[in-house]
Amino acid sequence: MKSIQQHHGRCRRSTRVFRVAAVLATIITLALDPVGASARPRDVYPIGGAIKVEYDETGGLDFFGNATNPESDAGRGGRWQAFEKNSSIYWHPRVTDGHAHQIGGSIRDKWGELGWENGPLKYPTSREVAAGKPGRFNNFEGGAIYWSGNTGAHSIWGAIFGKWGNYGWENGRLGFPTSDEFATRDNGAGQHMEGGEIYYSPRTQTHAVWGAIRDQWVKAGWENGRYGYPTTDEVNGGDAAGTSGYEGKCQSFENDVITWNFKNPLYAKSFSSVAPGPTPQLTIFNQSKYRAEFDNAVNQWNSKGRVKVATVGDREPVLIVQDVNIGDGEFVGNYIRGLGLRLNTYYMDQPYYSGDRNRNVLLHEMGHALGLHHSCEDNIMLARVTERLQFGPIDNRSYQAMWGAS
Ligand SMILES: [Zn+2]
Repeated sequence: MKSIQQHHGRCRRSTRVFRVAAVLATIITLALDPVGASARPRDVYPIGGAIKVEYDETGGLDFFGNATNPESDAGRGGRWQAFEKNSSIYWHPRVTDGHAHQIGGSIRDKWGELGWENGPLKYPTSREVAAGKPGRFNNFEGGAIYWSGNTGAHSIWGAIFGKWGNYGWENGRLGFPTSDEFATRDNGAGQHMEGGEIYYSPRTQTHAVWGAIRDQWVKAGWENGRYGYPTTDEVNGGDAAGTSGYEGKCQSFENDVITWNFKNPLYAKSFSSVAPGPTPQLTIFNQSKYRAEFDNAVNQWNSKGRVKVATVGDREPVLIVQDVNIGDGEFVGNYIRGLGLRLNTYYMDQPYYSGDRNRNVLLHEMGHALGLHHSCEDNIMLARVTERLQFGPIDNRSYQAMWGAS
């Protein structure tokens, strides 16, 4: 019963049902009242209550035309009515304080495909409104449907909707959705957008992938290829030389990192000062006064368990750590293989470089001495001083790739 009514306005068969009913009604009316009630226009149904309020607010007869069915029952105690100009109005007493909402065109078609108010989107919570750029949308209890001329109408909900919102919805670089959400392996989900992808899995959470990193990921076989699901969004960083060179991007996936605009790889044993052997060792002779920060860095890198960072012994090469004062404009910390690790007191003695920043400097430079090149935000190997003291996903992956997991 319900489904036949619901398709009215979209489906010829149900229109015919109403036409037959109207003809019957006319015959009955003529039989009862031969004086002239047949002059009443055919198929005009009363519009009342909350549906009439929405009808009038949205544009009345010009916008909707006449009702094409009597107000009828909808799911869970709601009501609905369809109109000549490709729109309907849906009402439920507990949705948006009992305000009814218009829904029409391709957006209504998509909603119908997904099961109307009984599907995952449930009732509309807004009428159709203009998007931030040419396009339209309705909000629903369970998500939204967005339409544009280039992309058609697509639903969006849940964690993917949230991630899309973080990047500015259709106005951000992801643009309009170009697919609905679809299921992926391991109870995951994905959705295509004009400007990229959003992928979710319970283990990796929800992340956007776009640009050149997306292209490389797609070429390798999406989430089923060698990289797997994204485990972070794209972050800024880079290894370009010079104080302004942070133009690169990184994104971590389950099985590897993809970088963009990097000259160097993320790591190279040949860049380290580690002496190889059954237990690889980084032997350091510390002449620096930043002893607490130095000790902290030694302990943290030693906790990774593969390369022994030793402060005594004579295994070559020996990395010398020393303080220099070379004034403004150079570096805070610097590592050059064969030359040593230098700390610039000009910066490190300033109040701004409080304990955590100086600790970050020692951790970072010691990371270089272990073979790690620069990476991106959320990592110790970001090419800029932060207060971060925890290793990030790329720090961990690079260390493991060179020296193995502990
Ligand atoms: Zn560095």
